[in-house]
Amino acid sequence: MEANKTPQFSIVIPAYNEAESLPVLFQRIQIVIKTHDYTAEVIFVNDGSTDGTDEVLEQLALEQVSDNLQVHVIHFRRNQGKAEGLMAGFSAARGKIVITMDADLQDDPQEIPKLLDALEKGNADLISGWKYPRKDPLEKRMFSFVFNRVTAFFTGVKLHDMNCGFKIYRSEVVKTLHLYGDLHRYIPILANAAGFSVAEVKVKHHPRQFGVSKYGFKRIPKGFFDLITVLFLTKYKKRPMHFFAGLGSLFTFGGIVVFIGIAVLHFFPTIQFPMTPLWFSGGFCIVLGIILCATGLLGELLVSFFARGDKR
Ligand code: UDP
Ligand code: MG
Repeated sequence: MEANKTPQFSIVIPAYNEAESLPVLFQRIQIVIKTHDYTAEVIFVNDGSTDGTDEVLEQLALEQVSDNLQVHVIHFRRNQGKAEGLMAGFSAARGKIVITMDADLQDDPQEIPKLLDALEKGNADLISGWKYPRKDPLEKRMFSFVFNRVTAFFTGVKLHDMNCGFKIYRSEVVKTLHLYGDLHRYIPILANAAGFSVAEVKVKHHPRQFGVSKYGFKRIPKGFFDLITVLFLTKYKKRPMHFFAGLGSLFTFGGIVVFIGIAVLHFFPTIQFPMTPLWFSGGFCIVLGIILCATGLLGELLVSFFARGDKR
């Protein structure tokens, strides 16, 4: 493929310490490209690896294997996380279709035709892989099960495997996403909130062969905090006052009820009730309510300040 010719699709692969897996993965991708006569580009993002992934990728980029396949490598100087890796790959991608997959050989390039087919049939703007049957340790599958159910309940986006690394997108979707931190876990929700349709397709999954998983138990509390962030970003990003004032009003209302209770108790001197805690809790609720409303106002100030620059 000539260097300036647009590929049919771009494959974005974030990699952090995956030196052993990458040559095998690249070989498997080449077989699929050749068998189906696709024209594609592969964008590897080396996320600050320390195990020689950088050299392995430079070597792969030098192998001019076929005219139908271009290879690009982006190096981060230090580890920035999968979300940043995906973002760098997305902005470099030139194809009208973008595929993401993990570098650790758990996703199978043989499934690429199935994903392309699903996208071309117009099923959705983003089709997420559903690792089935999933070849990960039991505790990871259990956490994932709960994570997917809770997320579906709160967001209304009902997928079995939200965080599957293997996904296919129309390029408009990836150019709209703004990922940072660990928000890559919630891509379907963010895309859905931006107005894109989302679907899922079952994909083959393999156990990790080389290296180690980069995400341990810390992902549980982090995932919970991120869910709150995502809910806030998708529902209240442009109207923070509604969120904070809603919560603030509840507290203020609670405080008022407590003070009414104190007033009523004055008419019944026979009822013995500890007044000091009542005064404290009523006052606390009202002060908290006011602080929350003020936070909402500050949020509104920020939104109106940035509204000119941020059209999304
Ligand atoms: N990854 C990355 N940067 C990181 C952590 C992970 O680019 O800071 C890549 C990793 O190399 C792999 C993918 O993200 O290609 C998924 O990571 P991993 O397999 O460790 O996650 P798991 O499958 O255990 O959820
Ligand atoms: Mg993995």
